[in-house]
Amino acid sequence: MLRVDNHARTRPMKTTLSAHGVRMSRLTGVRTIMRDIKQTLAAAPHEPWINLSAGNPVVLPALEAMWRRHAEALLAEGSFGAIVGRYGETEGYAPLIDALIRLFRRLYGWELWPENVLIAPGSQMLLFAAANCFCGYDAAGRLRRLALPASPDYTGYDGVCLSEEALLATIPGIEIRDRHTFKYRVDFERLRIDAATAMVLFSRPCNPSGNVLRDDEVQHLIATAARHDVPVFIDAAYGPPFPNLAFAEIEPVRGENVVYSMSLSKAGLPGERIGIAIGPSRYLDTLRAFLANATLHSARFGQALAARAIEAGDLLQVSAAAIAPYYRAQFERLRRVLAETMPPVEWYLHEYEGALFAWLWLKDLPVRDLALYEEIKKERVFVVPGSFFFPGIDDAWAHKHECLRISLTAHEDELAEAAAAIARAVARVYGGSAPAARRAAG
Ligand code: PLP
Repeated sequence: MLRVDNHARTRPMKTTLSAHGVRMSRLTGVRTIMRDIKQTLAAAPHEPWINLSAGNPVVLPALEAMWRRHAEALLAEGSFGAIVGRYGETEGYAPLIDALIRLFRRLYGWELWPENVLIAPGSQMLLFAAANCFCGYDAAGRLRRLALPASPDYTGYDGVCLSEEALLATIPGIEIRDRHTFKYRVDFERLRIDAATAMVLFSRPCNPSGNVLRDDEVQHLIATAARHDVPVFIDAAYGPPFPNLAFAEIEPVRGENVVYSMSLSKAGLPGERIGIAIGPSRYLDTLRAFLANATLHSARFGQALAARAIEAGDLLQVSAAAIAPYYRAQFERLRRVLAETMPPVEWYLHEYEGALFAWLWLKDLPVRDLALYEEIKKERVFVVPGSFFFPGIDDAWAHKHECLRISLTAHEDELAEAAAAIARAVARVYGGSAPAARRAAG
């Protein structure tokens, strides 16, 4: 006789997690900082905190107005009910796919077919699908690796693969550009792409560093991966054609083994969760099946808005006019204040080639980045310790503990104030008082 014992049935399920359950129920490093920030803010809500940790893009008025206009037009139309009141296709909302095909033909001369485009509920989900379709243990029990060719990179890659051990990150080369500027380079001597590699992934422009891998580096990566029939995923969450928060002259990249991954999150629609993959159907077919199993399809309201904004030309125009100039000005503001206030220590900002962040490297920092984070907190400022952006990189590499990510999304006055506060905290940890150090620097 079947005996239903809810207690016995549910208790083990709650307490005994699968290996995947253990992996996915853990918070990745940066989330622990976000939790610390939340708790600190809750404990002292009336203090004048400046939060430079956020990855949330600024709600720019021109961008919001554009999305609002399209939403109002859509709500007023007869098609609204059919868009939100029906299930859709896993591959995405057809008018959005058509709009993207036309856009890529017009801008870049690409001939795409509907099977070369896939819409996902956010690019994070898209990359999760890819990492788990290609990486981890294959049917023969061999570990297939996810290669991150130039660490640091997006902290979301830390938890993107269900088999943690699949991640293989590579230390980059460091090029000093001038007294306070540096740039990461792929170190092809160190990089291993071989028969055990299943997928190559990097963000371009890069969150957190703002780096844009050069065209020749990208082509070399693609060619090396192609020799082993390995797909290269270029995460262009900040790249062209939208939001095009890139200052290096770059274009989307295509190839037999390339998937170009885009997002509408930094173009004003993070809440709508829209990621876009463009690439060969042999990869997208697999990802489409994964998404069908995991989520059925992406929400359609945001997709319908995006289709309209692309067709009307608004998205490109507002991206160009509002997004990139705003963050460029923010970065310059930060750099100016740091140049005026930093103590005479060896500090560098990564060349700002795109994305929402400044990446500060304090060479020979006498404490770890986490201790500096605490010191900066005393100034009522939050940043993100850099070590969270180096998943898979050994702690022995000192550079991993010498960096900070500073979000450019704060109000401009707050950003300037916070930069001066960071300089004071840096002066303290290097052992000098800020005013004395400032005199020495001047
Ligand atoms: N890739 C990078 C480099 C990001 O910075 C982010 C979000 O911050 C994502 C992917 C995830 O974006 P989405 O909102 O499309 O899932």
